[in-house]
Amino acid sequence: MTVKTILSTKGSEVITIGPTATLEEAIAILTKHRIGALVVLGADERVIGILSERDIVRALAERSANALKEPLAQCMTRIVVTCSECDTVSDLMERMTHGRFRHIPVMEQDRLVGIISIGDVVKQRLGEMERESEALRDYIQTA
Ligand code: AMP
Repeated sequence: MTVKTILSTKGSEVITIGPTATLEEAIAILTKHRIGALVVLGADERVIGILSERDIVRALAERSANALKEPLAQCMTRIVVTCSECDTVSDLMERMTHGRFRHIPVMEQDRLVGIISIGDVVKQRLGEMERESEALRDYIQTA
C-alpha cells in the first residue's frame, strides 16, 4: 500500500501557514481544523518547516505566555522529513518511529501534494488487517 493510495481517499489538502504568523495564530488554525501540525511555507511556496503541538508546548514551557506573540519561525522544526507518493506505508511507519514524529508532508518535484499523519497510517493498517482476517475466515469456512 502506497502513500498515493492513502491520498486518493483522504485527499490532498494541506493546511499551511507562513513563518511570520504568531504562535497564537497557529494555535487558532490548529484548533479550527482539529489537526496537530501545520506545514510552514516560505515566500516561494517551498516547505521551510513544520510546527506541531509539541513545538508549541515546548515554547510555552520555556517562555510561558510571551511565546504566543512570537513568530512561529522561532520554534518550528526546520529540517523536515518528507515522503513521496510512491513510498509505502511501511516506509512511513519506519520514518515516524525513527524520527519520533507523527506527520510527514508528501512532496512531488518540490511541490507539496499532501500530508500523512500517524492516524492515517493506523487507519490504513487496521483496514488492511480486517481485510486479511476476513479473507482467512472465508478460506477456513470454505476449506
Ligand atoms: P509530531 O509528533 O508530528 O507532533 O511532532 C513532534 C516533533 O517533530 C515536533 O518538534 C515537530 O516539529 C517535529 N516534526 C513533525 N513532523 C516532522 C517531520 N515530518 N519532519 C521533521 N520533524 C517533524
